[in-house]
Amino acid sequence: METLGHQLQTRFGFNHFKPGQKEVIEQLMAGRSTVALFPTGAGKSLCYQLPALLLPGLTLVISPLIALMKDQIDALTARGIAAARLDSTLDAPSYQTVLNRARSGEIRLLYVAPERFNNERFRQAIERIPIAVFAVDEAHCISEWGHNFRPDYLKLAEFARRCQAQRILALTATATVKVQQDICLAFGIDPANAVRTPFYRPNLTLLFSTVTEHVRDKLLADKLRQRPAGPTIVYVTLQRTAEEVAKQLAATGFEARAYHAGMKDEHRAEVQDWFMNSDQAIVVATIAFGMGIDKANIRYVYHYNLPKSLENYAQEIGRAGRDGQPSSCEMLVCGDDRNTLENFIYGDTPALPAVQSLVTELFSEGEQFDISVHELSAQHDIRPLVVRTLLTYLELDGYLEGGTPYYSSYKFRPLLDSKQILARFDGERREFLANVLRQSKKAKTWFQIDLDQAARRLNCARQRVLAALDYLGEQGMLELQTSRLRLRYRRLKPAANPQPLAAELHQRMLKREAADLARLRQVLALAGHNRCQTNALAQHFGDNLEQACGHCSHCLQRSSTNNSKRNANYQRHGTIIDEAV
Ligand code: ADP
Ligand code: MG
Repeated sequence: METLGHQLQTRFGFNHFKPGQKEVIEQLMAGRSTVALFPTGAGKSLCYQLPALLLPGLTLVISPLIALMKDQIDALTARGIAAARLDSTLDAPSYQTVLNRARSGEIRLLYVAPERFNNERFRQAIERIPIAVFAVDEAHCISEWGHNFRPDYLKLAEFARRCQAQRILALTATATVKVQQDICLAFGIDPANAVRTPFYRPNLTLLFSTVTEHVRDKLLADKLRQRPAGPTIVYVTLQRTAEEVAKQLAATGFEARAYHAGMKDEHRAEVQDWFMNSDQAIVVATIAFGMGIDKANIRYVYHYNLPKSLENYAQEIGRAGRDGQPSSCEMLVCGDDRNTLENFIYGDTPALPAVQSLVTELFSEGEQFDISVHELSAQHDIRPLVVRTLLTYLELDGYLEGGTPYYSSYKFRPLLDSKQILARFDGERREFLANVLRQSKKAKTWFQIDLDQAARRLNCARQRVLAALDYLGEQGMLELQTSRLRLRYRRLKPAANPQPLAAELHQRMLKREAADLARLRQVLALAGHNRCQTNALAQHFGDNLEQACGHCSHCLQRSSTNNSKRNANYQRHGTIIDEAV
């Protein structure tokens, strides 16, 4: 095993393995599939990056976060390790080049998003390449009963089998005992091979304060004023709340700014930079903030709104105190939030008639058909993610097989007026382009064009229309964008009677709803727990502490009633559950 340490030093420049890394790598080197359960920032990626250099075959990394993929590939490339990603931003020749380099063994690590497996051409290509490690990042997304279920993950285990991956490495930072079981079961991993580092972080103080909605803002401002300054995240549920709370705090003199997925990319990057470089910045954010944030000295995390689950909570507070210094995580427990969150959960469950009409429509299509998730969502009044989930269930149950998705429609913004564009061409080409442009419909600044329809009307191949637009794009005459993804399906067997099938799918949705509601109740139960809350949270993730932590709301309250001398300590740590406002 000397060589592992040697590789660590020479290829990655690290002197020691972090906890758990060596165990995981040794399992993989011995040919065993495994699960790595380490907190965020604990160095999970190295667990596949190092074996990728030593094992013959390709290491295929499945990760849902394109931005993080890009960062990792840049870092690997800088270390002289050949890594690449295949995603929808690549044009056809670059895509082919990456695949060829993977096939020839030149590329050691290939990164893809889980959706990539919906592409038939990709599946076929990958089945011909020997896969040494099939590494699934954020593996908890596979669990239907987990907090962050992604339908595309459900199909990954089947793909891993199909491409005869020699070993699977599932990686996650937040998996309950149940979700760990789901991961092991799905990928056929022996649970005894799972490597888990302790969940408990002694430098985090968990506090809970009950509050009513109308005094919440004041309470937060008071708390921020009474403590020493330090990098702070305030988590909220809605984008609107992020804006409002940041504005109020800024108006009272705090260095506060909002961050959420509704903001423009540049603006978000700017807020992130500002936060990274400050030691008293307060960012008021939705859960969009935090992924990929590598700031060691975050001193405070407040939950202005209730987190949706203990998994979310653990992930969000896990961003505090990475440097090991004392840090405080405080949840403002507000009953009104419960209604809002429960309504979101109910809103995710389609009504039975909606599922029935969707299923009926799907089974009345021809054997091969294509659909748009957004259109189905609008027609049947089912949220887009839920439509996807239902389609995935039908795939897993053997009714449908997914084909390569495609973009039916493109939009473009002319950078010259159409006369100027046409003036550059003559003869048949000019006439063809004029016809293509005539097929498009103008919205505000963008023109929309349905390629299939245009091809039919112009009596030519779809490819020719696309090539013409591509050419105009390359020549800087217009800016081209794809839109309206359509998913293709083939029906493998008919549903004798769609009604019972719809009822069964609806039951599954109700079960998910019940699981989501239960998760929210667990958050409230932790807030009101009358034993050590740190320990209760650790237990939820399969970790048992020997004794009470001594510094969560519950422990502090006990010590303050037991020992009035400790009141100073209690005061410093703020309001305690049930006694608050
Ligand atoms: P995770 O995926 O668990 O959140 P990453 O794999 O992104 O964590 O690693 C977090 C950071 O730790 C990265 O900057 C990585 O380079 C660094 N790192 C990983 N392993 C080691 C090690 N053995 N020694 C020092 N730093 C490490
Ligand atoms: Mg990671």
